[in-house]
Amino acid sequence: MAWTETYSCDVCGKPKSEEAADWWLVWNDWLSPKQGDPDQPLLKVTRWNAFLSHDANVKHLCGARCAQTLMDRWMHASNEDLLE
Ligand SMILES: [Zn+2]
Repeated sequence: MAWTETYSCDVCGKPKSEEAADWWLVWNDWLSPKQGDPDQPLLKVTRWNAFLSHDANVKHLCGARCAQTLMDRWMHASNEDLLE
């Protein structure tokens, strides 16, 4: 039996329909400038991919507008906020 997953946008809560295009996947990640320096937050964004959408840490976004909202929040968040 096929297992269908339903997704909703992590910013606005809109559910993803089967034919919905222009969805995006976003990860919070960290980058080490060099040894001993504090890690820098890194935001990774890619187009929707069915396989990657199953990732436990990925955020699902319903379009460029919600991607921008998330990026705006990310830019204003402290490193402590992003660790959550
Ligand atoms: Zn949205």
